[in-house]
Amino acid sequence: MNTLTFYKSVFSHRDVPAAGLPEICISGRSNVGKSSLINCLAGKRNIAKISQTPGKTRSLNYYDVDNKLFLVDLPGYGYAKISKTERMHFKKLVNSYLNNRQELKGLIQLFDARHGPVSGDYIMLEWIRSWGGNVLYVFTKADKLSANNRAKLMKTYEKEFGLENITMFSANTGEWSKNIWSWIYRILK
Ligand code: GDP
Repeated sequence: MNTLTFYKSVFSHRDVPAAGLPEICISGRSNVGKSSLINCLAGKRNIAKISQTPGKTRSLNYYDVDNKLFLVDLPGYGYAKISKTERMHFKKLVNSYLNNRQELKGLIQLFDARHGPVSGDYIMLEWIRSWGGNVLYVFTKADKLSANNRAKLMKTYEKEFGLENITMFSANTGEWSKNIWSWIYRILK
């Protein structure tokens, strides 16, 4: 069914939900299309708006999927207009989550389909390599590319990340969202 509902915002590692459900986190630069992707997966226009209200942009935002799993929206990185203190706070929160959370079963990493990974993304890629867990690389805003360019880029990305670990995605058309759901259910099986 895939009914996705907002569960809670977590500002401190002490506030994560009690152990139980598996978690899949979603990571990417700010503006990559993370909120749009969550709205699209939820089939609702504004569910991820909560993560964009002031103060909540630096929290881990938990979404419940059919009481079976949590999707955890990590704060978008690479946004220049935040204070040093705020940046330190969310860096600590995210690092603690990524490095210690036992429930974390997979990570969805977003890149803009038009250019793939850029500057701040390489820090995340380095962490992913050292982590060694399940990762789906999602290339967002794919509607901005021609079918030809998409096919070319998919070949490049496939070489880098492996065919079974990549998908294009468009929040505008909803295309490829079933690839995301099937990856989630495949890794949680
Ligand atoms: P976030 O900061 O990662 O949460 O990014 P948003 O979801 O707020 O999206 C940033 C901008 O990209 C907005 O102007 C969106 O309308 C646009 N955007 C997001 N996803 C898509 C998409 O699939 N296609 C197109 N054309 N634009 C998108």
